[in-house]
Amino acid sequence: MNGYCDVYKHSGKIGPAAYMIPAAGIISAIVLSFIYAYITVYSPVPGYISIIFVLVFALSLGFVISKVCFWGKCRNQVFLNVSSFLIGTFALYFSWIVFIYALFNQNGNTEIELRIFRMFISPGVVWDLIQSTNETGWYSILSWTPSGSALWTFWGIEAIIIVAVPLIISSKVIDSEMFCEKCSDWCVSVEALNLAIPDDDELLKEIKKGDAESLADLDRAPEAEYSYISVVLQYIRVALYYCNGCNVTAGYKLKHVTKKTGNEEKEKEKIENITGLFVLPHDSFEKLSDLSNRQDYDS
Ligand SMILES: [Zn+2]
Repeated sequence: MNGYCDVYKHSGKIGPAAYMIPAAGIISAIVLSFIYAYITVYSPVPGYISIIFVLVFALSLGFVISKVCFWGKCRNQVFLNVSSFLIGTFALYFSWIVFIYALFNQNGNTEIELRIFRMFISPGVVWDLIQSTNETGWYSILSWTPSGSALWTFWGIEAIIIVAVPLIISSKVIDSEMFCEKCSDWCVSVEALNLAIPDDDELLKEIKKGDAESLADLDRAPEAEYSYISVVLQYIRVALYYCNGCNVTAGYKLKHVTKKTGNEEKEKEKIENITGLFVLPHDSFEKLSDLSNRQDYDS
């Protein structure tokens, strides 16, 4: 045992993401709401297929938030989750407004004068219009026009997807990333090195706890040889993280790889994380990256 590496934790700083995420989130929610609402109203095939539109809407929103999270250098998971939740809720509300606007205009309803901004500041009016749309239903699948509780159920599922999907995406996005506070930039990661799983269970336990010194002493993973029968290899893969700016901030993560290889079949890899992200002291980082360079050179 040579001492364990610390588990990496984000600093909690929000950075420029403090204004970038809300701004980009609201703008993209507005744009996507228009696209989503008009496609929903004017789609020649309404019904079950609209689940795809909802998913694309929610995934696009999550994608924008996660990209801007990187550009804005957000290292605060709570801020990210709260922002995603609020943006998702805003997107849900705004998409309802545009949907009602598009639907009532399509039907040529002249009794109610609708303006998007006025609806936005009058949630009570929006709610009344949602309820009246629910009573009659607005589309038919074959000869069935969903209304009442059936339609509420569909709308409930839709609402959950729009709010939950961006939240799920953003709850994962900085999970396996490392940030160099000195250079104020994200670290890069490389799947650096394949090492043999030690026979000694105790040693394996130490390594999983973050014993980087012992890790560097492991043998290299066995290479697959050309074979007519399928061969299953198992080994540890080291993912190295390092800062391109200073080359000092570094970390690593271990994965368990099961690789199936053989003449007849395509190579298959099953990869499973076996540790979180550890902070790597500079000398251990040099040792491991030297090893990985040698492995690259040999293979
Ligand atoms: Zn750095």
